Amino acid sequence: MDQNWKASATRYQAVEYKRCGKSGIKIPPISLGLWHNFGGIDVYENARDMVLRSFDAGIVHFDLANNYGPPPGSAELCFGRILAKDLLPHRDELLISSKAGWGMWDGPYGDFGSRKYLVASCDQSLARMGLDYVDIFYSHRPDPETPLEETMGALDYIVRSGRALYAGISSYGPQETKRAAAILKSMGTPCLIHQPSYSMFNRWIEDGLTDVLKTEGIGAIVFSPLAQGMLSNRYLNGIPNESRAGKGGFLKPADLNPLVMTKIKALNDIAQARGQSLSQLAIQWVLRDPVVCSALVGASSWQQIEDNLGALGKPDLDSVELGKIEAVLRLSQ
Ligand code: NDP
Repeated sequence: MDQNWKASATRYQAVEYKRCGKSGIKIPPISLGLWHNFGGIDVYENARDMVLRSFDAGIVHFDLANNYGPPPGSAELCFGRILAKDLLPHRDELLISSKAGWGMWDGPYGDFGSRKYLVASCDQSLARMGLDYVDIFYSHRPDPETPLEETMGALDYIVRSGRALYAGISSYGPQETKRAAAILKSMGTPCLIHQPSYSMFNRWIEDGLTDVLKTEGIGAIVFSPLAQGMLSNRYLNGIPNESRAGKGGFLKPADLNPLVMTKIKALNDIAQARGQSLSQLAIQWVLRDPVVCSALVGASSWQQIEDNLGALGKPDLDSVELGKIEAVLRLSQ
């Protein structure tokens, strides 16, 4: 990417933004998450290339968390560097999120959902990114030991004190979501958005959560819509060394077992019959429910993001195609 990058004049022509629940916020149907490949161990120029080309293509939402890296915190530092060099003049065009809830620092105050952890972590995230505020601050996961009132109270405080514009929750189940939404509403800070995992290989949100989100008017931005890359062409011909499964970690070679590979290949056939890539099919599939306002993808190269953006504008999946996908997902041997 050019060192003197200037934003593309056509950046708002290709993407149709989707309303997030019953709110004033619209979100790109594909957003970019910085969980992997933006850390201190990764190549900064590649990270900058992905962020700036995404912005030029209309992806205005970037999702972070305190612990993204490795090392933890370094993805926010990387994003802060890109902001300072290139993107800060466009701050008001950007929707930037961060989170706290998973382990970040030693001792009793660096994990889960206490007010002490969330507020301190939000301040640290702002410092790392060089921002006065984030657009969305999330409770990253439910905390079974902290009263929900305290965690939601922390989100309310973070918003009221100007550290964030909106509150969100991630990976909360249907009943916890209902309660969290009610507490936030009573405090006058509505829950804007829920960030759950969702893909053809992980459908837990269909079991109650999406109904709650519709009733409450909360939008869903779904993470790992490509099942960390399994629902793409990444593993069709084996496990590349430089891939997520090849490096080992959250995705393991054992996850790509023979049954999963059979499904991936059959889904790829369905995608090819539609004249598209498997990742495009996977993204269209999660976006078929209107409560899902964005597919939150990760990437290791701009080419992957560009491929994913090809999902937009393709014909909707019809009932025959959806039936074929269901049949593949139900395969048990
Ligand atoms: P995905 O399911 O989109 O997986 C991303 C990976 O898939 C990439 O790193 C790349 O793998 C591969 N990939 C992406 N596009 C393509 C393509 N077109 N062709 C081939 N391979 C492709 O999402 P993630 O698991 O990365 O999660 C996305 C974001 O969701 C995170 O960055 C984070 O912001 C958020 N998240 C939130 C969580 C939470 O608890 N709230 C938990 C997890 C994620 P490779 O690196 O091998 O090239």
